Amino acid sequence: MITRQFGIPVTSPGAILRRERDLGTPLGKKTGEVLQSGGLVSDKIIIELIEDWLRLHGGHGFVFDGFPRTLRQAESLMSILARLRTALDLAIWLEVSEQTVRDRISGRLQCGECGFTTSSSSAQFAERAVCPYCDGPLVRRSDDDLGVLQTRLQEFHTKTEPLASFYEKMSILHRIDGNRDREVVFSDISRLIEGKVAA
Ligand SMILES: [Zn+2]
Repeated sequence: MITRQFGIPVTSPGAILRRERDLGTPLGKKTGEVLQSGGLVSDKIIIELIEDWLRLHGGHGFVFDGFPRTLRQAESLMSILARLRTALDLAIWLEVSEQTVRDRISGRLQCGECGFTTSSSSAQFAERAVCPYCDGPLVRRSDDDLGVLQTRLQEFHTKTEPLASFYEKMSILHRIDGNRDREVVFSDISRLIEGKVAA
């Protein structure tokens, strides 16, 4: 699934993987089980998916949401970009407290038909939760259970946090306070990206 914002394609490994799962590919079935238990899909698989996607869609700029998540992914991304003769302009680090993560996960709803995501606090429903775009049922994503949060946080501290210094050394890291309202955070992110797209 590709959404276009800022005039360039935006994607995430999650969106690519959910598409594989929905298509019922062997890769989709295998990774579905891993995601269900709150673990991370192997670096090797993620990197292959990202390289394929970049070759198809990344010719005129791109934004990755939630990638890379490990040092190995970050290093592989640099080799892929070197092969494609493309530079990485910006790494945005969203700083959020554990309480913010907890609050947002417990309130997140997703459409079972089209994948539209909202939160129970921002959406108001007369009787039952229905998607504003396709009338599909809005349900909690099964990988959103607070039970898997502890696993995710552990993975974050050991595998993802070292990326901050990786990108700091490259002088492309920008930190943003993600605990504020989503509109404010989004406008800060947009300003950073639009500055690079325009440059
Ligand atoms: Zn929908």
